[in-house]
Amino acid sequence: MTEFLIDSHCHLDMPAFDNDRQQVIENARQAGVAGFVIPGTTAERWEKVLDIASGADDIWPALGLHPYFCNEHSATDLDRLADLARSRAPVAIGEIGLDLFLPHLDERKQRYYLEAQLDLARELDLPVILHIRKANDQVLQILRQHPVKGGICHAFSGSLQQAGKFIDLGFCLGFGGMITYERSRKLRKLAKELPLDAIVLETDAPDMSGALHRYQRNSPEYLPEVLDSLARLRRESREEIARQTTLSVQQQLSLKTPDQATSANMPGNHP
Ligand SMILES: [Zn+2]
Repeated sequence: MTEFLIDSHCHLDMPAFDNDRQQVIENARQAGVAGFVIPGTTAERWEKVLDIASGADDIWPALGLHPYFCNEHSATDLDRLADLARSRAPVAIGEIGLDLFLPHLDERKQRYYLEAQLDLARELDLPVILHIRKANDQVLQILRQHPVKGGICHAFSGSLQQAGKFIDLGFCLGFGGMITYERSRKLRKLAKELPLDAIVLETDAPDMSGALHRYQRNSPEYLPEVLDSLARLRRESREEIARQTTLSVQQQLSLKTPDQATSANMPGNHP
């Protein structure tokens, strides 16, 4: 039996999917992935994200300026983000954050965009999708100064203690293909120790391929492999993990899935 999963983080707008996007989405649906959240990265790609999401009731857009591309962002992008976030109803502001892993990324610039977008999320009462590398304590501190309602820390890698602080601030933690590698000891230990209701599943496709697809393009159709790893690690049933992680994404991002939507406001295009 296939589970009912939601890929809480997949970049279906990326050029890596230009040749077979519909097929990838169809394959993922067949594999039990009943929902997809596409985070925004740069202003240039927002229309593409919105476009892909607008045709389906199981694909949801988030809009934001990714810290990795901080040299491409401009202050006017923030104005456009505020307009689009009001008019196009993204499910979150994201992905936004702080990436201190790559030394060439200007920390000051990253902080500027992160803080401005946190303030926007708060103003619009939207959750955020966070990208954090080597900066968990810094982001926790920024969140205390720029509080938001919560959201998802995507591809979380931090300590159990840091995880606890994000959970206290209303966040769930995203786990993906990295937990399928035996060598990801620290991450696997964390995924085992966290309360199940703090965990959401993601692929981060086309990046972060899991162990079975190393060196290949990652895809939301491989999300069940993350579920399998988590079930083995935690010694819990796939069904229970699928149920809880799906519920958590739905709650964090206030998602309306096709079977929950009323036919009045959401035409059910998919079975
Ligand atoms: Zn991402």
